Formats: sequence, structure tokens, C-alpha cells
Amino acid sequence: IDPIQENYVRTVRNCIFSIVYPIPFKSTVLLVAVSEEVIEDILDLHISVKETSDFLQFVSGEKVLHGSVPLAHRYGGHQFGSWAGQLGDGRAHLVGVYTNRRGERWELQLKGSGKTPYSRNGDGRAVLRSSVREFLCSEAMHYLGIPTSRAASLVVSDDDVWRDQFYNGNIKKERGAVVLRLAKSWFRIGSLEILAHSGELDLLRRLLDFIIQEHFPSIVPNNSDRYLEFFSTVVSETANLIALWMSVGFAHGVCNTDNFSLLSITIDYGPFGFMDSYDPNFVPNTSDDEGRYKIGNQANVGLFNLNKLLQALKPLLDPRQKQLASQILEEYGQTYYVRFTELFKRKLGLLGDSEDDNYLIAFLLKLMEDTKADFTMTFRQLSEITADQLKELRIPEEFWALQDLGKHGLFSEWVSMYLSRLDGNKGDSDIKRRRRMTTVNPRYVLRNWMAESAVQKANLNDFSEVQLLQQVLQHPFQRQQAAEKAGYALRPPAWARGLKVSCSS
Ligand code: AMP
Ligand code: MG
Ligand code: MG
Repeated sequence: IDPIQENYVRTVRNCIFSIVYPIPFKSTVLLVAVSEEVIEDILDLHISVKETSDFLQFVSGEKVLHGSVPLAHRYGGHQFGSWAGQLGDGRAHLVGVYTNRRGERWELQLKGSGKTPYSRNGDGRAVLRSSVREFLCSEAMHYLGIPTSRAASLVVSDDDVWRDQFYNGNIKKERGAVVLRLAKSWFRIGSLEILAHSGELDLLRRLLDFIIQEHFPSIVPNNSDRYLEFFSTVVSETANLIALWMSVGFAHGVCNTDNFSLLSITIDYGPFGFMDSYDPNFVPNTSDDEGRYKIGNQANVGLFNLNKLLQALKPLLDPRQKQLASQILEEYGQTYYVRFTELFKRKLGLLGDSEDDNYLIAFLLKLMEDTKADFTMTFRQLSEITADQLKELRIPEEFWALQDLGKHGLFSEWVSMYLSRLDGNKGDSDIKRRRRMTTVNPRYVLRNWMAESAVQKANLNDFSEVQLLQQVLQHPFQRQQAAEKAGYALRPPAWARGLKVSCSS
């Protein structure tokens, strides 16, 4: 802990956290949304707590709980490929660790709660727009079965926050908001990198031992190869996470090492996007000119980041361990590919193994790319259409994504290959196949236009669409009337085509 408790922006050394208090808003705050599951199931509270002023004060950073010592974490990172030096929690405060009735340990963090020693040129605030997106998406990812931080609440104030959304000199007044977010741990690759880069090796060792002891229970604490085992776990879990992102068409947007969790959960939701039309070159972030973090490059960037993690661990490894660690990293590509294949086989309802499975998947993705078919709905509609309908190439109008795909000259060839592969599924039936596929292919994801529409209403203090999306995305695999009515399973509206989001948040 940084012993200097004064709250000014500075370069900090020899510590992992600085004590720093959230800065309350000057104006009144409104509760925009809460996650009932997080409140009740993780925090052991009754949902009615949201009606109390204590709750509102706590989740907006106005009141710190008795005994809590709020902290900002010091970390560094590689941003867009280059070492960026000290970054840290520039607008986030760790306000406590809660161990719930199941014995799970959760770290509670406010985001948007004011300046810290790590704010650099920032104002320590977050705007409503980006806070709505983080709140909705982190919860949605959880219900899609993807490891992620969670969000308990979202509040908005009347405090002015100034942002240049598209870096074009057009500065606009927005409102400050705070999300109370939770993770088992907020440590990132950058948490270790900063210590290695500044030669704070004793602290590096102590932090790593702490992380292993707290979060990697299968690793024997005093085992001399514990850092290797840690590295090996992070490598395979990161491969797993990125394969999961790809399976739902999720692009994180800013895969810097400071945004990559050591627990391999999705964190730091910024200019992320779910792709509509399938396109490996999909870039959700307007400021990512070179497409470094395009969806099709995420697996590569994962390798880059893990290599940076390895560089940070190296001062603690002996020559033999360094050699072994490099071998572990070499397995990353294969681990990713195996996991990706497994997930896409499930998306297609394939049981068992056939040597042509990878070809079948790649063939479909190529057809989707050529026809700009909708990623989410192509897989969803393949889960809903019967094998007979497919066989006769009789595609009803409601299967609009498959109709798009069907315009490809090679569609019928893919269909017959697919159907004969399905015939090879042992003990299967078409009803079972469809049931299985609808549990892995979501009907609803948080498309940009949906988030944007909810944000526009929220800016006018109408939080109904935030809440509707929150409800709908809790059951992404179940057809819901309200969601159908809102058009969430339809072709994205024309105004949303090419909608991008900026890093300014
Ligand atoms: P990101 O890539 O958005 O996760 O953020 C990179 C770094 O910038 C982190 O250290 C953030 O804490 C910091 N940061 C982003 N926005 C602000 C802000 N408005 N005020 C202070 N720090 C910020
Ligand atoms: Mg970040
Ligand atoms: Mg951020």
C-alpha cells in the first residue's frame, strides 16, 4: 500500500495499491438499474435494499462502509503494442472484498468514482453512455456463459462530464455515472508488468504468491514450479476465453495487457461490439485505425499479451523454467484451435468426431463472410429450422439470415455436407439436435444498435430500455415476446449499419 494518502496524480513506486477515497458527485444521483441476481445471490442482500438511501450513497461513492479502506490499484500495460508505463485505476476504487454465504470472495469496485493517483490526464469520471454499455454487457456475457466481471448497479448524476466522443474537437457535455462492478479479482497482466518493468522483484514475487494462493487453489503454494503452473493455467484459460468470445461474435475492442485479467475473465468493457454481419475484419472501436483489435485478430493478440506476461514472470524463473515456459506458450495456438472447434461443433449440433468437421465449420464461415450473413442469427436459425426444411432448401421468410446465406452458389453444397454429417450423429434425432443447438446459440446478444437505443433513452432519463435489455439478456437462449416486439432478433435497423463506438468513455 502506498503510504502517501494524498489524492493527487503522480508516479507511484514500491506499492500495489494506493489508499484513495471516492469523490462524491455534487448533484443528486438516480438509480438507473440494479442486477437482482448480483444483489441477492452474490451479495446476500434483499433486492429491496435498492430503495434505501444507504444503498444509493454506497453505490455512488458518497459513503464508504465502516472499516473499509478504499484503494486504487497501480498497474501498467502494453497499449496497442507498446509499453505505456504506469496506468492504474484512474477512475476506479476498490471499496471492499465480500465473502458470501457460499464462501466466494468478491472484490467490489466502483468505476467512475473520481480521480486517483493514476488518473493521468483523465477526470476520474465515466459517462452514462459507457456505463450503460458496461453494465448491460458484463451481465449479458455472464448469462451467455462467458467468464466476466459482473455489475451490481448503475447510477447517474447531474454532474457535468465533458467528452470529445470522436476526437474531432467537438466537446459535448455528458453526465457522470458510476457502476458498482464485481470480480473475484481485478488483477491484470499489467499488474505484474509494472513491477517487473520497474525492478520491484520482491513485490512481484509477493503479489504473484498472493494471487496464486487466493485464486489458483490447485497450485501447491510452495512448489518451486508454481509460477510455471500459474503461467500454464493463464495460457490455457486465456485461449479458452478468446474462443468463447469468438463463439458469440464478441470483439472486446481494446485488448491491451492492462485489460487482460489474470483470472481470464472478460474485464474493462469499453468500445466492444458484437458483430452483426460475419466479418473477420470487424473493428468495433473507431480509434483503432489499424484494426489491431479486429475480431479475427483477437486470438493473435492473446498470444502477444501472454508473451508480455511471460516477460514479466521471467525475473522469477530459472533457465530451465524459462525454457519450459516458452514451450507452454507454444501450445497456446493449438489449445485455442481445439477449443474453438469444440465450441463451433456444438453450435452446429455435431456429436462425436469426423475428420471433416473443421472443413465444415470453415466452409460455413466463408459462406457467411461472402454473403454478409448475420453471425448470431445464422447459427440461431440453423438451430430452429428442421432438417427437412433445410434438405429441400425451403427456407421460410422468418429465417432471414439463412435466406441471405442461401444466396451463395455453394450453399446447397454446404447443406448437403452438413445434413450427411448430422446423419452420422449417433442416437440423435432432429428434435434433440434443435433443442441442443438452441441452448448454445443465443437468439439475443447486445448488438450495438440495441445498446445505442437504450443509451439515447437513458440520456433523457427514460431507463425502460436499459431495464428491458437487462431482462431479455438474462435469458439469451429463450424466445421472449417483449424482445421479439422490440425487434431484437430481426435484421439490425438501417440507421445502425456501421455504427461504431469510441474509446472516449
Ligand atoms: P481503458 O483502456 O479504458 O481500460 O483505460 C486505460 C487507462 O486509462 C486506465 O488506467 C484507466 O483507469 C484510465 N482512464 C480511462 N478513462 C479515464 C478517466 N476518465 N479518468 C482517469 N483515468 C481514466
Ligand atoms: Mg482498462
Ligand atoms: Mg476503461
